[in-house]
Amino acid sequence: MFARLFSKKDTGSDRAPVGPPPSSALTRWLRQGVQMWICPLCRVEHKADREFIWHFSEEGALDDEQVAQLTRARGFCAEHAGMLELIDRQAGSMLGMSTVYGDLFEGIVADLDGLDPGDRLETATCPACVNREGAVDRNAGYLLSLLTDGTGFADRFGRSPGLCFRHFGLVWDTGGPADARSLLLDVQRRSSARLAADLQEFIGKQGVEVDAEPTGAEQEAWRRAVCATAGWPAPAGPASVPEHQLGR
Ligand SMILES: [Zn+2]
Ligand SMILES: [Zn+2]
Repeated sequence: MFARLFSKKDTGSDRAPVGPPPSSALTRWLRQGVQMWICPLCRVEHKADREFIWHFSEEGALDDEQVAQLTRARGFCAEHAGMLELIDRQAGSMLGMSTVYGDLFEGIVADLDGLDPGDRLETATCPACVNREGAVDRNAGYLLSLLTDGTGFADRFGRSPGLCFRHFGLVWDTGGPADARSLLLDVQRRSSARLAADLQEFIGKQGVEVDAEPTGAEQEAWRRAVCATAGWPAPAGPASVPEHQLGR
């Protein structure tokens, strides 16, 4: 009835070994994620995005190499352009955004001038997406190291909801020692079984034959199910505002 999620063959055991324990400065976003009860790699994505966009809005527009990179990518993707826009909206002026895109379109016009009808169109990925992907890849390795470093992270992670499935797949494919992989799998199995049970409890209590109000953990089970599958949502406020001022 159900398709298998994972191939039996791809155990990841033939992947590159995970490196030495990283410094606590490098793993702070992962530790924050576990503390916040969200997927630690979703936390890495949120922080990498916020840092990159904030930095770009402050200095990137003045940096020729960054502008050239953005020109090769023909601008930011919609998600990252939206983050840049939010900073200007919060500041009450679209001057920053207009300057960035003003430089970008000067480059685009020059590129198009140099393009012949028979040429291939060179393209590149949104630089903020490249930055995010690099941060997640590095932190997938850090996570596997942290799970076996004996400093208590494994215990905290063991009690957490685990990883969203996009990031679970990525960490699983990274490899890592057998005990770290066992823990990852245990956490993912336990939190998924809990979600399945909570969802059924909600459905049962909301059913027409049963006159019982959902009151416990099952109330928000659907939201947890969306986060576990689609990833946890990023902080809503602009990247220029410290998170402690965002009211979350
Ligand atoms: Zn995630
Ligand atoms: Zn992007």
